[in-house]
Amino acid sequence: MEVPTCVSCGVYVEAGGGNVRFPCPECGELIVRCRRCRKLGRRYACECGFSGP
Ligand SMILES: [Zn+2]
Ligand SMILES: [Zn+2]
Repeated sequence: MEVPTCVSCGVYVEAGGGNVRFPCPECGELIVRCRRCRKLGRRYACECGFSGP
């Protein structure tokens, strides 16, 4: 199993605690964001080129 890391900052992300994981709306690839990046409103980018707030 892959180690989930935040797509924005690369930090290891535990489940829960405000961290989120969701499939990319474009390609279904799992996107992981840590709560800090969510709070900061950092953009995320998927390998397929999709990016969002
Ligand atoms: Zn992050
Ligand atoms: Zn994607």
